[in-house]
Amino acid sequence: MVSYKDLGLVNTREMFAKAVAGGYAIPAFNFNNMEQLQAIIQASAETKSPVILQVSKGARNYANKTLLRYMAQGAVEYAKELGWENPQIVLHLDHGDSFETCKSCVDLGFSSVMIDASSLPYEENIALTKKVVDYAHQFDVTVEAELGVLAGVEDEVSAAESHYTKPEEVIDFATRTGCDSLAISIGTSHGAYKFTREQCTVDPKTGRLVPPPLAFDVLHEIEKKLPGFPIVLHGSSSVPQEYVDEINALGGKLPDAVGIPEEQLREASKSAVCKINIDSDSRLAMTAAIRRVFHDKPGEFDPRKYLGPARDEMKKLYMHKIINVLGSDGKAE
Ligand SMILES: [Zn+2]
Repeated sequence: MVSYKDLGLVNTREMFAKAVAGGYAIPAFNFNNMEQLQAIIQASAETKSPVILQVSKGARNYANKTLLRYMAQGAVEYAKELGWENPQIVLHLDHGDSFETCKSCVDLGFSSVMIDASSLPYEENIALTKKVVDYAHQFDVTVEAELGVLAGVEDEVSAAESHYTKPEEVIDFATRTGCDSLAISIGTSHGAYKFTREQCTVDPKTGRLVPPPLAFDVLHEIEKKLPGFPIVLHGSSSVPQEYVDEINALGGKLPDAVGIPEEQLREASKSAVCKINIDSDSRLAMTAAIRRVFHDKPGEFDPRKYLGPARDEMKKLYMHKIINVLGSDGKAE
């Protein structure tokens, strides 16, 4: 049993309270490898933004959760080396699928876990979430729960269709589970293909797909029921079209990839939404940068020469999100 406190990590409690009060959101970036983690820490240290490092099921399978935990511990020290004296870094389990997975992460030194029982019937979601909360809170580890179902695919999380969170359920759910934050469904979805062509309209000027707007009415209903309670948005990449275009121009094939417009995420950040999950956008940044190197320098075979530019591109993206979309810069001086 390792306490995250000994690793220099923090849980989400104070961070979220400040974010809700201050009208901004904390970035939750997924990481799978060293370059991505370096980019996240460099961007957070440079902007003095609190940050949540997320480990998804796919990341656990790809990189191993023990290794990722030690990388996060190293990240705290790296942040200090970069001149961030008091780094506010959370290590969070993304989409924990069982009590055992959540418990093993708490025991390993994670400071926050998500139990995603949203695909279970309501009462079973409550029972499993409460079991995780009861365990995690003994160690002051915070717990994110989910109510409502997101469409799309993020690693191995999938749902055929999206069901918006029912505002009439949130008080009962939050009270009975004791969860610290709640992921809701208001029209975001996982992955780089968030919407079908049929769900979108077409911008007559650019010919680009315009996704349907987020259900802000549902969000505001939920906020009214649970004033000040931390709300989380999953599947909130904006799928920057310049990356999609570049990838496609350099031999890639990402037709009709569209995401959540950044203005809407900015709007959501000003409300009770205090954690915004971004994964696909960094994948796109990385892929575009690597394709660029392979196109411009076909003789290149030193991984540092293409992973380095990929890291720089991801850092640029993370800084943009922190400063221009979430507004979390300077909140962890
Ligand atoms: Zn998610």
